Amino acid sequence: MRMSNLLMPTLREVPAEAEITSHKLMLRAGMIRRLAAGIYSYLPLGIRTLQKVEKIVREEMDNAGAQELLMPALLPAEAYQASGRWEVFGPSMFKMKDRYDRDFCLGPTHEELFTQTVIDNVKSYKEYPMTLYQIQHKYRDEGRPRFGIMRSREFVMKDAYSFDLNDDGLNESYRKMYDAYCRIFTRLGLDFTIVDADTGAMGGSGSQEFMVKSPVGEDGIAYCDDCGYAANYEKAECVNADKPSAEGDYDMEKIHTPNVHTIEELVEFLGVEPYNFAKTIIYKADDKYVAAMVRGDREINEVKLKNLVGCIDDLELAEPFMVRELTHAEVGFAGPVGLSIPVYADNEVAQMQNFVIGANETDMHYKNVNINKDFTPDVVADIRVIEEGDACPKCGKPIKTAQGIEVGHIFKLGTKYSDALGLKYLDEDGKSKTVTMGCYGIGVTRCLSAAIEQNNDENGIIWPVSIAPYQAVVIPVNSKIEEQSEMAEKIYEELKSKGIDALLDDRNERAGVKFKDSELIGIPVRIVVGKKCGEGIVEYKERRAEQAEEKTIDDAVQDVIDYINNNM
Ligand code: ATP
Ligand code: MG
Repeated sequence: MRMSNLLMPTLREVPAEAEITSHKLMLRAGMIRRLAAGIYSYLPLGIRTLQKVEKIVREEMDNAGAQELLMPALLPAEAYQASGRWEVFGPSMFKMKDRYDRDFCLGPTHEELFTQTVIDNVKSYKEYPMTLYQIQHKYRDEGRPRFGIMRSREFVMKDAYSFDLNDDGLNESYRKMYDAYCRIFTRLGLDFTIVDADTGAMGGSGSQEFMVKSPVGEDGIAYCDDCGYAANYEKAECVNADKPSAEGDYDMEKIHTPNVHTIEELVEFLGVEPYNFAKTIIYKADDKYVAAMVRGDREINEVKLKNLVGCIDDLELAEPFMVRELTHAEVGFAGPVGLSIPVYADNEVAQMQNFVIGANETDMHYKNVNINKDFTPDVVADIRVIEEGDACPKCGKPIKTAQGIEVGHIFKLGTKYSDALGLKYLDEDGKSKTVTMGCYGIGVTRCLSAAIEQNNDENGIIWPVSIAPYQAVVIPVNSKIEEQSEMAEKIYEELKSKGIDALLDDRNERAGVKFKDSELIGIPVRIVVGKKCGEGIVEYKERRAEQAEEKTIDDAVQDVIDYINNNM
């Protein structure tokens, strides 16, 4: 591609709309442009990279025996109504009506439609196992679309679904997808971690996420370098830590704590440690209210709580007026004693002695509280967020934590959708049985963001060779000097003839601009044709290297070819 013809509107300034590196660089490199919140156009450099990611995903899915098909994105409501997800998705689903007042949505994910496709088209048990996939646009009206295409409202997903006769079959299909995902993310040049993930209140027998560790990731992950344990916070099991509590047989006592609203203020006022306090938070779970208790220095894990409560739609903090109504106090004084709603206490709370709680009365707390003597929780379970340094649930060594970008997700669904929609088969003996399913997603567009987050420097993107929009660029220092432009042209043609995806920077720009652009857009390797081209010498530079090297033209061309081939 000649850059004089390339639509590549690079920007020198950092656009105000972007908060994170990948978003800034994609805008600056002229890869994407924002149309509305969470909705982006892909310009030529963007679409080329996207297509390269898709190609890798497609090859590995095909290698794993999955078959590609393509579903519509505009979907009639019926299948989602049958599975219950027409309601469950809530405001995240883009819903609309057609001219006859019939309900439609833009597909947020396609379990129902794939299940229906198999119901309609697979007639014999002999056709299983089967894994089907598509690479397609998905639509989710995200509460907080942000970070460019990292969390957008329209995005490209590869979604695959496996159909098996029994659990052994499902395990085998799942393993194949697991292996394919490892190959895909390795080929994309991502440094990834596989973590155990939550399967939600509705069950499913196992789930893992492929995470790219990054400070901008929205998921917390806990991992252990000693034994290899790794889990999403949502799933990571907490082991109780021993914190000293005041031993002894004391009686609960109400104390006046004026203007004490936060744990910090309480710590200050009473001269206790945060871990001598148990905080009580009131939640709205679907249409009922529950109280959750964790130690003062801990956070509630809302996913664990949601699963435990059996909440289907939403678990959210109770509205302040409801907190007042339920606790008969201002917000900040909730406690379990005398509360009329179910109390879920974290395992650690059950270990505490003589601790402090809110008294359900404004400006009042109780001290010397003891579980089972002063109140009895309805449920005691693990409902807290794991923390750095906690004991690893598998080996006991200190846990490490990091933020992760979820780029892929594999899930043993079991019979959830086949039961809901009636996907059955007759076995050899003519007995009716339910097909068991798995689902497997990759955030194809999100992979671009993740790759940039992991591969960049102060000058711009450093594309992994496998997904770079172009693999090499040839830059004549001064295009007006015929010797240089002719030599650059020759090298460019030669690289192309050797199968290299090459760019020729034939623009009438200053050399500095061309160098800056080639770094910003992250081309993995470049050849600069300058003053010494008459002597047959050019400059060769890999994007990751500090320094350029002078080489003969033949060596430079051969080194580009070798570099590309060795890094694909
Ligand atoms: P998240 O927790 O990030 O919202 P999810 O768990 O809801 O994602 P899945 O239903 O598992 O997402 O979708 C499969 C993959 O699609 C995810 O692993 C992620 O890579 C990608 N994905 C999901 N939502 C978005 C989005 N809004 N923008 C871009 N990619 C997304
Ligand atoms: Mg997921």
